[in-house]
Amino acid sequence: MRAPDELAERTAADRQAYLEDGLSDLSCRRCDGVVRVKKNSLAHTSIQWTTDAVSRCPAYTGRDGCPHLQREVSAALTRGQLVIPGG
Ligand SMILES: [Zn+2]
Repeated sequence: MRAPDELAERTAADRQAYLEDGLSDLSCRRCDGVVRVKKNSLAHTSIQWTTDAVSRCPAYTGRDGCPHLQREVSAALTRGQLVIPGG
């Protein structure tokens, strides 16, 4: 869970997008960049990179994103932080 003051820093637009799109924040443990992630299916993950996350991440490539973050997605699924729709 995030601290309340951290949540308060988000814009209303961000909250709205979160509610509508089902995106979850996920941070890369390597570079501390925060991206928004949504699992569409087992094989398909949507990741919204912010410019801040891209600039922080030394491993980021436009094609593959961050390999460390891919592992974070798997870990988040295991924890139940990310849910695959329909199972
Ligand atoms: Zn990274």
